Formats: sequence, structure tokens, C-alpha cells
Amino acid sequence: MSATATVWLERIRALPLERKIRILNVCGGHERSISMAGLRGALPPNVELIPGPGCPVCVCPEEDIYEAIQMARFDAVTLVAFGDMLRVPVNAPRSEPRSLEQARAAGADVRPIASPTEAVAIARRDPARNVVFLAAGFETTSAPVAAMLAEGVPSNLHVLLSGRRTWPIVAQLLESGEAGFDALVAPGHVATVMGPEEWQFVVDRHHMPAAVAGFTPESLLAATYSVLRQCLDDRPFLDNCYPSAVRAGGSPAAREILDECFEVVDANWRGIGVVPASGYGLRERFRSHDARLRFPAHGDAARKRAGQMPPGCDCARVVLGRIYPNECRLFGAACTPRHPIGPCMVSDEGACRIWWASGLRESAHAERACSA
Ligand code: SF4
Repeated sequence: MSATATVWLERIRALPLERKIRILNVCGGHERSISMAGLRGALPPNVELIPGPGCPVCVCPEEDIYEAIQMARFDAVTLVAFGDMLRVPVNAPRSEPRSLEQARAAGADVRPIASPTEAVAIARRDPARNVVFLAAGFETTSAPVAAMLAEGVPSNLHVLLSGRRTWPIVAQLLESGEAGFDALVAPGHVATVMGPEEWQFVVDRHHMPAAVAGFTPESLLAATYSVLRQCLDDRPFLDNCYPSAVRAGGSPAAREILDECFEVVDANWRGIGVVPASGYGLRERFRSHDARLRFPAHGDAARKRAGQMPPGCDCARVVLGRIYPNECRLFGAACTPRHPIGPCMVSDEGACRIWWASGLRESAHAERACSA
């Protein structure tokens, strides 16, 4: 740990904390830094760092992945998606592929990509073949997808859009009356795009301390100190602890391009349900690139239900910060990165996988009560 991180830790340890303070993070990158640097163990015992809804792969609704699998199997398309999406399991009959990876093993043309430009390149290489891009992600991923569309894409490239916005799920948690946390560490990468102001509602509407953090232990500890100090003083405000990258207003160019290509829609979150104004939909002018319109036969309204996780999988409660990953009974036993049961064990941004990778490999078998 760097000297600066050590200084922040000393400051935190010197705070007169008399009660438990629970701090939610909303970013898989944050959770990875916290877990890999061992920050939980270094903090005073009455400071809880709770991993929250920071994994876009984990919340991608099952019906979208199912639809992508069916398109890959039956529509003679090349299906491209960011690598993590390929292993996410859906509740299909055992006789059918249960992930894009299994569809590929069964002969479908499914390819992992690392960026939207790769999708464009694949479509350009074979103009006679349709390419479907399953584009799932938060604002930071959605902005490059929008840029790709705005620049113009080949007519054979179609987007199966599953973009999500981060602040509405936190708003829903806070408005539920059982948030289960006392302070928020907001995602720095989202704030670089959308601006820190998106998180001002946490303070204004809920009188809750909030701080935007970067990905280093120093920045995360600075944000942790800030919200703890705010709790102690009972003077919440939105602190920008990532000033080197986060500016007021975020990136106007990225926000403009998001608005140009996408409209804000109510959207389903896997295992959670529909969250108002939490998703992106393609604007009318991109209808010809909408995979759902081009290949409409596979939409299955029956799959749009809240309980979409595999039996026994607690990913929804992990994503909502209700339980820690190792409080799922399947953690480390039936569910491991090699044999993932739920999406949180698949993605590099999933809390279960991060905790496993950080060395915590046994289930606690005890549920932490939500004491909001
Ligand atoms: S350990 Fe596996 S089954 Fe349990 S919540 Fe995590 S991903 Fe789901």
C-alpha cells in the first residue's frame, strides 16, 4: 500500500466512530480494488464496505441473453459480444445451449470482441452476412456504442442494445425505504462521462453522504474518509475525490452523443425487475440497425420476470448489497469461476468472482440481516 493510502488509513482509524457505518459502492472496478488491496481488513471493524450494483453483465436481463443465443442459433448471423457475456448462464432447458459459449460450441458463430470498432470491422469484412452486437453495459460502455452508431456503421451490423444507467438503481434502492447503507461511494468512471452532478440527489433528497472515487486504493480511502467524516459531522455533501478525471458536467461530447443515439427507457435488471428510466433504447433513426426489429422472432415476454436467476443463486441480493457474495450458499461450493451458476461469478466485475479471485473461497452460510 502506498504512503498516501497509509495516511488515509491512519486518518480513518483516528475518527471517533461509535456506530457501524455501511458504505455502498456502485462499481466493479471499485470492488476489485477494495478486495485486491485488502481494504476491508485494514479498516476499523465498524466500517462496512458493501459491493453494490456495479456489474453490467450481472444485471443484463436474461431475456436479452436468451434472445442473443436464439439469434445466433437460428438466424444465420455472427453474434458478437464483450467477452464476459459469453459465459453468462440462462435458464434454458438442458437440451438447449444455456450460454452464448455453449451456443458457439454447438456450432453457432459467436465471437468475443473487446470494442465496438471490432464489431464494425467484422461486419465490414463480410458484407453479405448479418452481424448482431449484443451491447450490454453502463454509461461508459454505452457511450462508445453510441459513437460507433453516430459515425455510421455497415448496413449488415445490428445492435441488440442492453445499456443501463447507474444512478436510477441507486435511487430505487434509496427510495425503497430499506437501502441498507449509510453512505455512497459513486463510480468515478461513470462520473467522468456523465458528470458528478448525477449523484447530487443522494445528498439533496436523502441527506446521505456521497463521494466520487477513482480506482486506486488512495482515491477509495479518500472517499471513504470523506463520507465517514460527513457522517460524523452530519453534514452530507457530494465530494469529488477523483478530481484528476472527474469534472463538472462530465464529458459534454459523450453525453451529447449518448443523447443523439439513445433515448432513456424503463429497463429490466436481472433478478431485480424494471427500474424506471434506467436503460437506453435506440432512437428512431437507428431502427434499421435494431436487431430486435431485424430478427423479431425470438423475443420471449414470458422471460421478463423478476426471478430470473438460476435456482439457489443469490446474485440479485448480492447486486443490491443485501448480502455479501460469500453469504450465498453456493459460493465456492457449487458455484466457482470454473463452473459459475450465476452471472456474478462470471464477470470480472461481478462481486462473487472478485471475492473469489481475492482469495475468499468459502461460503459464510449465514445471511447478514439488512438493517436499513
Ligand atoms: S456465488 Fe454463484 S450462485 Fe451465489 S450469488 Fe454468486 S454467482 Fe450467484
